[in-house]
Amino acid sequence: MMVASPAEAAREILQKARAGERLSYDEGVTLYRYADLLELGEAARERCDQLHPERYVTFVIDSNINHTNVCVTNCSFCAFYRPPRHAEAYTRSHEQILDMVGQMVEQGGTELLMQGGHNPDLTVEYFEALFRAIKQRYPQVIIHSLSPPEIQYIARRSKLSIYDTMVRLKAAGWESFPGGGAEILVDRVRSIIAPLKTKSQEWLDIMRMAHNLGVHGSATMMFGHVETLEERVEHLLRLRELQDETHGWRAFICWTYQPGNTALGGREVGSVEYLRTLAFARLFLDNIPNIQASWLTQGLKVGQVALSFGANDLGGTLIEEEVVRSTGVTNRSNAETLIKLVRDVGKTPALRNTRYEIVRVF
Ligand code: SF4
Repeated sequence: MMVASPAEAAREILQKARAGERLSYDEGVTLYRYADLLELGEAARERCDQLHPERYVTFVIDSNINHTNVCVTNCSFCAFYRPPRHAEAYTRSHEQILDMVGQMVEQGGTELLMQGGHNPDLTVEYFEALFRAIKQRYPQVIIHSLSPPEIQYIARRSKLSIYDTMVRLKAAGWESFPGGGAEILVDRVRSIIAPLKTKSQEWLDIMRMAHNLGVHGSATMMFGHVETLEERVEHLLRLRELQDETHGWRAFICWTYQPGNTALGGREVGSVEYLRTLAFARLFLDNIPNIQASWLTQGLKVGQVALSFGANDLGGTLIEEEVVRSTGVTNRSNAETLIKLVRDVGKTPALRNTRYEIVRVF
């Protein structure tokens, strides 16, 4: 009997994925490693069109406000944080943040993506009072904020359980969880790039708890640093398993590690690998409906190509953003740019809210 070559095996697995069948971990590794890039992209696009026959490509008008860059967790891939008392350390007051939210609202923004460092001075009261003030002044804004590691750190500093911390934040207006701090959910990787940060199982447990509380959101992957291809597939498998259980994720977003100004350094993986990963994720994550293209790290042109590799969403316009930009990345966008970018690939741009409800079709 002839043994199939890896490329032939990948082609067979691709047929299975095209038919909407679930892929095992081993099949995933073979497909991801050996599939022809364009065939993989085409299958991902087909799957995307089957799931979204209206052919909308969605985006949200949002702002990523970073309330503090003070952090004691020292992840080696991060260019954003500063240690306490550093000359460039900052913590924004509630009034400053409210002003920034107001500017976003003036530009039609509805989503506040607020993330920051693990700042020892900030306990749950800072966030409760802030969220209440935001919801009081701008009730239409959806607070899509914090990450499992931030929640864990706030709980620790507040001497509360993680559950009680989340219940209090939810009561104050926290509604949606962006899913940052996942990087790669394999502890070998985390022990190298973020040894002081939330472990893989803890990250998943906090997500499960949030989903069970009704705080849904997105799942993420930051790749291209010290992980292997197999570890990326393991990461995606762990996300898929939790999603089977809770159905709490509306979207998946992956982006490439940006080495500029980081202690870890190294080189950025290229756009080909980004597109391969995105297309593979569309096929492997068969239970997450929306796959977001990362124009922020890849630039608008690759973000546009990603719409033919399985992505159906362009994320936010990001009126503010400091974390990725601290690595030297300068990509910027606005609603008009995203609308044109979508029209140029023959799809229909649509404005959504954080819950992925369509607000306006262009
Ligand atoms: S990634 Fe987050 S937790 Fe890690 S150092 Fe940067 S701000 Fe701190």
